[in-house]
Amino acid sequence: MYEPGRPNLVEISRRGLMLVISSPSGAGKSTIARSLLENDKNLSLSVSVTTRQRRPSEIEGVHYRFVGIREFERLRDSDALLEWAEVHGNFYGTPREAVEDAMAAGRDMLFDIDWQGAQQLQEKMPADVVSIFILPPTMTELQARLHRRAEDTEQVIATRLANSRSEIEHWREYDYIVVNDDLNRAYMSLKSIVEAERLRRDRRPGLYDFVTRLLTEKPVL
Ligand code: ADP
Ligand code: 5GP
Repeated sequence: MYEPGRPNLVEISRRGLMLVISSPSGAGKSTIARSLLENDKNLSLSVSVTTRQRRPSEIEGVHYRFVGIREFERLRDSDALLEWAEVHGNFYGTPREAVEDAMAAGRDMLFDIDWQGAQQLQEKMPADVVSIFILPPTMTELQARLHRRAEDTEQVIATRLANSRSEIEHWREYDYIVVNDDLNRAYMSLKSIVEAERLRRDRRPGLYDFVTRLLTEKPVL
């Protein structure tokens, strides 16, 4: 019987997975990502660098590394970014080193990036990427959420809404689509995806040794 908290007696080594989450701005991906990160200690956030202005609620080094355009160009040109893109008039990029360290240690990483970044990671690491696109239940609700978040100016909200349609057009490029109507249900869907993807055979090289040991075990009579 499943007993919460009981340690697993069988540890089977596996590769880390790269969980890529995209959505039009305001659909709720950061909110869902936060819940996943709080409740799953094997998952860590890839902290992007950006040239965007910091929002009042954001913390340097936790949500983003906020840099000037010169520093961004230096990182990009020295190949320190695994992927990068211009989104809503600002530059964003994923620092390479943290991802490579996490993958080597078999840890899972979550990427809150747009469709351009998702495409680049899918091309570079097709075996490791699991991609999820979050849709809002309606465009009216998307607009309401951007206003309720109350962290961007009216002009920034207008740009993001105008861009949301072209972002949604990319939904077919993702492995999973989750409609974020009820927040808890959307969170449970993402949690299920992560759990199932961790069990995939091709992500668990340790299975070879495990099954070999299982088949050579002497029966207890
Ligand atoms: P994104 O990261 O996709 O831009 P956020 O996670 O910042 O979006 O969410 C935008 C706003 O919508 C926030 O104020 C958040 O609390 C709210 N929100 C997220 N999911 C839901 C939901 N299912 N129902 C109602 N409000 C939500
Ligand atoms: P925001 O300004 O709302 O934090 O993010 C705007 C958009 O940029 C979102 O779609 C977010 O997922 C995307 N984004 C954030 N960091 C990165 C990144 O490192 N690379 C790419 N390609 N997109 C990013």
